[in-house]
Amino acid sequence: MGMGKEKFKSLSVKKISMVDLHGQYQNIKPEIDQAIQRVLDSTAFIKGPQVAQFEKSLSDFHGGAQAITCGNGTDALQIAMMALGFKPGDEIILPVFTYVATAEVIALLGLKPIFVDVKKDSFNIDIDQVESKITPKTVAIVPVHLYGQCADMEPLLAIARKNKLHVIEDYAQAFGSEYTFKNGSSKKAGTMGTIGCTSFFPSKNLGCYGDGGALVTNDYQLAEKVRMIANHGQRIKYYHDEVGVNSRLDTLQAAILDIKIKHIGRYEKSRQAVADFYDQELKEITFLTIPARSFDATHVFHQYTLQLEGVDRDQFRNYLDSNEIPSMVYYPVPLHLQKAYQKTGVGKGAFPVSEKLSDCVISLPIHTEMDNDQLSYICKKIKEYKA
Ligand SMILES: *Cc1c(COP(=O)(O)O)cnc(C)c1O
Repeated sequence: MGMGKEKFKSLSVKKISMVDLHGQYQNIKPEIDQAIQRVLDSTAFIKGPQVAQFEKSLSDFHGGAQAITCGNGTDALQIAMMALGFKPGDEIILPVFTYVATAEVIALLGLKPIFVDVKKDSFNIDIDQVESKITPKTVAIVPVHLYGQCADMEPLLAIARKNKLHVIEDYAQAFGSEYTFKNGSSKKAGTMGTIGCTSFFPSKNLGCYGDGGALVTNDYQLAEKVRMIANHGQRIKYYHDEVGVNSRLDTLQAAILDIKIKHIGRYEKSRQAVADFYDQELKEITFLTIPARSFDATHVFHQYTLQLEGVDRDQFRNYLDSNEIPSMVYYPVPLHLQKAYQKTGVGKGAFPVSEKLSDCVISLPIHTEMDNDQLSYICKKIKEYKA
């Protein structure tokens, strides 16, 4: 992990990492240390007052929606589906180009994942392909706001309304993104559908120092149900009305998040500034396509993801690597081609856009502590690349 100022022999800039959690911590260290110390002094490690306090901050951030914290983003998705009472065999529509968690909980609950391809420009679920997948067994659509930008929510919500389906937003990568509707009103990611699920994994846009997650909803009754499910299915201690799970955000993480959420505006701006820099410098390069920006939603750039064309991705990554520039591939295999999610009759060729993207996407370093020297260096090296 990045040790701040240390310089590489070959590198004239500060060591570059995909995320710089160390640098981010250093910049808010006194506040964080104090918050952690307060929890240590109280020893209220589970359900300490900081948990409710952070839920209040989360609710305020999401325009007053109910907010319930839990153990991680995957749990949030599972709890949402349990709270909505889905039954084995029910079908859930989701994009095939996403992190596995989205499909995993569906499979674990005995529900049926119904995959849909994504759009090449936005990387998000292709709305035009959703309606043909709806059957009498469909109960929900799960848009994933990939890389930090909301899916096409206005048409998606219209399809859901027409077909009486729930919408569960997976906004683990889009915390803070805001979607503007045709009538001019706008809503935060997570608050547009029935319920929203997010993650506070350390590298996420709002990350804690361990695992964490949350659900947000404007439906008060559903929020109560979520709270109950996440707490062993009990409303009153030792009285279990339903089968639940044990999933909670611990007090230390809540205390850390309640500090970090105060800085989220600055974090968002610094990510967008990195993306703007990359866009400006890389837009003319013919062997790559910079990420498209939607007119309807702010992009909070959890990832800055390029599409390569006509160059070998492994070779390009090796070249970057030899110049001390890290890169990542999110995700190398779409879900329908993963061993665990293969289904007869749904093989290679079923989702051509996702398959193509899996072969050509590459994400560059983007985080809240990047400086212009690092960015200039990365862009210069990319411009110098000869396939
Ligand atoms: C990170 C992530 C999750 C899961 O979050 P965890 O907290 O790691 O369980 C779910 N969906 C997407 C799209 C994610 O990026």
